[in-house]
Amino acid sequence: MYNVAQVIEEKCVAKKGCRLCIMYCPEANCLDLNSAKMVAEVNIDRCKGCELCVVVCNAAKHQAIVMQAVSASGKLMSEKGESAALGQAYQG
Ligand code: SF4
Ligand code: SF4
Repeated sequence: MYNVAQVIEEKCVAKKGCRLCIMYCPEANCLDLNSAKMVAEVNIDRCKGCELCVVVCNAAKHQAIVMQAVSASGKLMSEKGESAALGQAYQG
């Protein structure tokens, strides 16, 4: 099991021009703009779990990215909403 980043689409402000996480992610073809939905999107097969995207998104006060556990087979272990609630609780 390991952690990958996941974007909470409702909180992402990419439609207003934010590209911070996309600029800072050190992995190629990992974090990109989904131009159909106009939200940032993580390719979980490429994510190395460094959390840099979480740091920059939180620094800009968007808090639209959470880390989520993935099973050995590469499947997300929980729904995005669950970890979002958990993330908010941690941030107090
Ligand atoms: S930094 Fe946050 S708000 Fe900005 S594009 Fe990335 S996920 Fe969306
Ligand atoms: S955790 Fe690191 S590798 Fe994964 S999407 Fe965020 S910045 Fe990219």
